[in-house]
Amino acid sequence: MIFPIHKEEQDLLRMIGAVAGKLGSPAYLVGGYVRDKMLGRDTKDLDIVCLGSGIALAEHVADQLMPRPHVTVFRRFGTAMLHHQGRELEFVGARKESYREDSRKPAVEEGSLEDDQFRRDFTINALAISLNDADFGNLLDPFNGIAHLSEKILKTPMDPGKTFSDDPLRMMRAIRFATQLGFTIEEETLQAIGKYKERIRIISQERITTELNKILEAPTPSIGFRLLLDTGLLDLILPELVELKGVEFKEGIGHKDNFYHTLQVVDNLCKRSDDLWLRWAALLHDIAKPATKRFDPEVGWTFHGHDALGANMVGKIFRKMRLPLDHKLKFVQKMVRMHLRPISLTQEDITDSAVRRLLFDAGEDLESLLMLCEADITSKNPKKVSRYLDNYRHLRQKLDEVEESDRLRNWQPPVSGELIMASFGIGPCREVGLIKTRIREAILDGEIDNNLEAATRLMFSEGRKLGLIARQTPTNP
Ligand code: ATP
Ligand code: MG
Repeated sequence: MIFPIHKEEQDLLRMIGAVAGKLGSPAYLVGGYVRDKMLGRDTKDLDIVCLGSGIALAEHVADQLMPRPHVTVFRRFGTAMLHHQGRELEFVGARKESYREDSRKPAVEEGSLEDDQFRRDFTINALAISLNDADFGNLLDPFNGIAHLSEKILKTPMDPGKTFSDDPLRMMRAIRFATQLGFTIEEETLQAIGKYKERIRIISQERITTELNKILEAPTPSIGFRLLLDTGLLDLILPELVELKGVEFKEGIGHKDNFYHTLQVVDNLCKRSDDLWLRWAALLHDIAKPATKRFDPEVGWTFHGHDALGANMVGKIFRKMRLPLDHKLKFVQKMVRMHLRPISLTQEDITDSAVRRLLFDAGEDLESLLMLCEADITSKNPKKVSRYLDNYRHLRQKLDEVEESDRLRNWQPPVSGELIMASFGIGPCREVGLIKTRIREAILDGEIDNNLEAATRLMFSEGRKLGLIARQTPTNP
């Protein structure tokens, strides 16, 4: 092999080659596995192409493995997949493809290994390695994929226009690989994306979103978002983000370009956190700035309410992008809604009660929120950056102190609705909510202590004010 490989994997590949030999279906490793191994990236996905039936090869390979893995067959695609020792092996017969205008699903016929390499999206994804006895480990590189790997360029084996028009998902894949690998998209290939961008409309939202997520999971997502912007794809898939671009001047006063600011925030955050959803929050934290932008001759540009409106927009965007609508959406909305809160607490004279409120409202997401805020510092002046970071260090200390004394994270007020109802012999009603809120506020403001006794006392006095009559209960002090 031309790259280092564990003996165990080598034996597995030899076995596949031997089985393929017996079936008269020469087999080759192709695609992502070869690319990633050549780049020294770890990979557990093996794509195997053979001259013959991929399904038959998979079944015969499974027969040789202990324990025999289940073979999942996708008859419509002529592919089969099995799992073995943490690896995913996918088998397919070499094929030739021809496409129709309205679909990315090609008509398929049997083909040679070269036909099969030719149908692949990029030269670096079209490398093949023989698994056959006669030339085991031999590299077949008809399109200079190895050279392109070392030059770090993405280029299509055939005419790029045809490649992208046939299957427009490849445009997203090009930008995703450029971002993941730090590669450059070769000029003609890049031009073709711009030219055929409209074809993206035949791709399902789910597939587009999968690629966007991979871009966001890369070390420097801004590479991908710049390419999406420059090729015009971003206009088609996430126009709200494009709206952030540009600087307006009035009376000689400009504001920052919120598109490039946002990308910087995302990149900054990615150095601190791998959490995809926090990365989405960074991408969308200022999304409502265009909609809330005003010019005030006294103070210049303002974006009042962009946090609340932004949280709202996140819901719409998640729905459109077919992103999950569960607690992950709630989390991203919470981050966007709260992203201005910590900065307002970085002044010198903050009160314990303001700190307590932040602890209570952020709950278990406090650390994520602070990371987002620290990433939101994008000044080009290093002195300012370090001063702002210092402010957050100070705030973190303050948060720790108050947390230490109050234990407010994941806190629930000590008096529940049930206790209120039982204490006054009432059912669910407006008064229960009023009393609950009053107790929570009193604790957060430091007006009463955070314990059951103080809370119960306040409950009874508030109840009396509301005309409720206390029942004699053991908790009545
Ligand atoms: P990753 O696994 O990181 O997504 P990959 O390149 O392995 O990257 P897969 O989707 O696993 O991507 O596909 C395996 C191989 O199949 C690719 O390397 C490529 O050769 C080919 N391939 C995948 N999708 C396409 C496509 N849309 N057009 C042409 N070839 C493709
Ligand atoms: Mg793969």
